Amino acid sequence: MKQVTWHGKNVFTLDDVPDLNPQEGWVKIKIDTVGICGTDVHITQGLFPATPPQVLGHEGSGIISEVGIGVDKKRIGERVTINTTSNCGNCKNCIDWTISRCENAERSTPFFSEFSLAPDQNAIKIPDDLDLEIACMTEPASCCLSGVKMLSNLENSRALVIGGGIMGQFCAGFLKTHGAKEVIMSEPIKSRREISKDMNVDILHDPKESNLEEFIDDLTDSKGIDIAIEAVGKPELVDKCIKISKPGGQVLMIGVNPSKSNLKTDLYEMHYREITLKGAFGRGNVFHQTPKALQKLKLTNMISKRYPLNQVEKAIHDSSLGKGIKLVVKP
Ligand SMILES: [Zn+2]
Ligand SMILES: [Zn+2]
Repeated sequence: MKQVTWHGKNVFTLDDVPDLNPQEGWVKIKIDTVGICGTDVHITQGLFPATPPQVLGHEGSGIISEVGIGVDKKRIGERVTINTTSNCGNCKNCIDWTISRCENAERSTPFFSEFSLAPDQNAIKIPDDLDLEIACMTEPASCCLSGVKMLSNLENSRALVIGGGIMGQFCAGFLKTHGAKEVIMSEPIKSRREISKDMNVDILHDPKESNLEEFIDDLTDSKGIDIAIEAVGKPELVDKCIKISKPGGQVLMIGVNPSKSNLKTDLYEMHYREITLKGAFGRGNVFHQTPKALQKLKLTNMISKRYPLNQVEKAIHDSSLGKGIKLVVKP
């Protein structure tokens, strides 16, 4: 079978490798769609720790083509989204933190490949009317769903999302499906602001047109925003979220800030106004629920371009230029 190996920076090779055989308790999946993630871009730019050579791709969907001993043969032909890790349910992280950080996790093989092997548990059946291409977005969507579920008092809240990339879009969508009364999207690229209308965003803000702080001041009579989500990954924007929060407000960090970056903010203000700052990195406990949650969102305009397996490098490069919302590879 063919797979794409990353060799550091933006060097990739398309390789012929031996076919995969599912061991006991595992399944083999014919990969249908793999999403390009901001993390893939950051890895090639050296902003997210990763050691080459390795195969990348952690947002995938496909069809089960073979099962190992002990797995129900009826699963062959099932349309699935693939979780990258399994969970034991018994370790400290599973019990005290989140199942997506299981200490005994078994990893699915990466997805920039014609096939992947995964523990039976990692292949999640998707609803019949959910497209396999949409289902490849389960991983990024689950991170946003998990993040939104970390927030309290969503009902009737007024929330801001900075950044209309895929993470910001999912956050906006899930804020609305979880009861937020008014969602504001701040994004400089017009096409991304347009797509956020599909997420039922109420107010659009263009940071090139007006200053965000003044915009929120006007909107809230200087009271500040209930919830602010930073979905870009820039420390200065996290600071901005803290500044425009109302007393007792909540700030969620969904964007991946560069490794070793520091937050420069007025800590007196943050303390005095009792602002909560939360990091939301991963899938939490919600990967299984996410395909159903995706059905509630209008995602037809989300995938901007499709690339064959031999164009992974181009897809990652185009993604780094901010082309479109979601770029996907079709092995
Ligand atoms: Zn990702
Ligand atoms: Zn565990």
